[in-house]
Amino acid sequence: MKDLLTVKNLTKSFDENGPVVDHLDFTVREHEIFALLGPSGCGKTTCLRLIAGFEHADEGEVRVEDEVLESPSKHTAPQDRGIGFVFQDYALFPHLTAIENVAFGLTDIPKYKRKVFAEEVLCRTGMGDYKDRNPSELSGGQQQRVALARAIAPKPKLVLLDEPFSNLDAILRESTRKEVRSILKKAGMSALLVTHDQEEALSFADRIAVMNDGKIEQIGTPEEVYYKPKTKFVAQFLGRTNLFHADATGSSEITTKLGPMRINADADGRILCSIRPEHLTLKTPGSEQEEQIGTIIGREFKGHDITYHVLLNGEKYLVHTDNRVLFEQEDPVVIKPLESAVILEEKE
Ligand code: ATP
Repeated sequence: MKDLLTVKNLTKSFDENGPVVDHLDFTVREHEIFALLGPSGCGKTTCLRLIAGFEHADEGEVRVEDEVLESPSKHTAPQDRGIGFVFQDYALFPHLTAIENVAFGLTDIPKYKRKVFAEEVLCRTGMGDYKDRNPSELSGGQQQRVALARAIAPKPKLVLLDEPFSNLDAILRESTRKEVRSILKKAGMSALLVTHDQEEALSFADRIAVMNDGKIEQIGTPEEVYYKPKTKFVAQFLGRTNLFHADATGSSEITTKLGPMRINADADGRILCSIRPEHLTLKTPGSEQEEQIGTIIGREFKGHDITYHVLLNGEKYLVHTDNRVLFEQEDPVVIKPLESAVILEEKE
């Protein structure tokens, strides 16, 4: 797939505290949904604002196809960038109804068709019944869905979404995400989503850039960043994990406190590893001599699965199992790896 948006060496500082967007490089391909995922304050919104044209870049550039839209020497006005966006404050036109808000940007289709089409998109974001209300008569979550409908209805090549589902409850969030993803895919639009919610990025995006302190730590598919994190930050930000040090001896087999374990590459020397709780399992101790026996010290029942906390040789491990309760507090257990552990770069 061709690159649609190219962000190259993009840098922005507001004051002497250093860059909040620090030499970012990434591309969003045609028809791709790409997420910038990171903790609050890491610079995601500033990056999106630079792409939209609401901030000026100190260094680097933003390109859509071959056209430079932003660089220290070029600044295309937001309305001339051909980019749709949904920002956190929705910014709906207060004097227009929901349907008029959505129809407003549909200048490419004949006037008599605009409302019909606007209603269709509103229905898909679950807002069909509220089409004649003004923004002041809608809840935050409802306004958010109208803003989403308004941004995607004109089918811009690229749409920027800043935490677009943040005001929806868990059930509505999931269904709205699914609908919006399907609208984007069907129309062949590309989207850049900004979120601090790892589950949202994992379920909505085709690829994810994980940001920390103004920089990108890793770019990959949801499976790659989740199961093959490159750094300790990515491993921990994407979900719960078990981190441990081990001494490698030139192969992809290491000896750990849990016993022998495979790692994802040959390594030598002291290494830091991560293994997700669902890549470990528990069994009742048997008669094998070399078994390391741990103790269940906690249990979290979460409906679809159970997380056990296990103490072994003075260290705590998390193990996810399916939801059959097999072990009780204080039970002796053996932890068995189901997959290779992943080697992490040692940086804070
Ligand atoms: P959140 O998820 O909380 O929205 P974020 O990752 O989107 O956070 P930004 O909003 O980009 O982060 O902010 C990054 C940093 O830049 C923060 O420390 C913020 O205080 C600072 N910042 C953002 N806008 C400005 C501004 N106009 N002037 C000065 N500092 C700013």
